Amino acid sequence: MFLPEIAIAAGSLTTALTLGSAALLPQSQLFGRTLIAGNDPNEIALTYDDGPNDACTEPLLELLARHHTRATFFMIGRYVRHSPTLARQVLAAGHLIGNHTVTHPWLAWQSPARIREELRGCNQALEDALGISIHYFRPPHGARRPYVLQQAAELGLTTVQWNAMGKDWQPILPAAIVANIDRSLPRRRNRAANVLLHDGSHLVMGADRTATIAATEILLTRAANTPTRFVTVDAWT
Ligand SMILES: [Zn+2]
Repeated sequence: MFLPEIAIAAGSLTTALTLGSAALLPQSQLFGRTLIAGNDPNEIALTYDDGPNDACTEPLLELLARHHTRATFFMIGRYVRHSPTLARQVLAAGHLIGNHTVTHPWLAWQSPARIREELRGCNQALEDALGISIHYFRPPHGARRPYVLQQAAELGLTTVQWNAMGKDWQPILPAAIVANIDRSLPRRRNRAANVLLHDGSHLVMGADRTATIAATEILLTRAANTPTRFVTVDAWT
């Protein structure tokens, strides 16, 4: 699944594969700089994508509040339009909110006009609901190409990827989500953890994310009495 137009232009399968991977690999910097994580291995940013979700965002907020923990939420514009009050609750609880496009397309495959629409439209939905300007953006599926990063930069958005993921978009047990996150530890070496989780689903409003909430509770509970500090991604800019 790589970019056909780049494949032809590059004229070499190896180059095409490299570029195709760069469009998708969350930590690749080949298409431009993205924010991943800071250098303090004791820091963890819990990031939740694809909300706000009427079914699960509120219980997640309650859990985070009980643990006095702030997180980062990358929201889908059409869900923000659907549930602006919930988006405002996330902000009021002190969390950082970022742009995750209006409809969650694979941006690496979209026309420049569509990319602009998706980024601007989500910013507008968030600004209308929250009354603040937005500074962070996560591309759906982590997929991007130089034009995506350029558009984001023009809107004053820092593009954020991740270096650990729970793979919680599939039916999965909480302990397995935590195990997936822990598996990224050796790769991270001496870096902070930017953990990709989901409080919603781009496929449907109201998705069941109780496993993600339970996994979050495990992460928060086991971090107590350790040097771990939970941060929002703006701590690393
Ligand atoms: Zn997403």
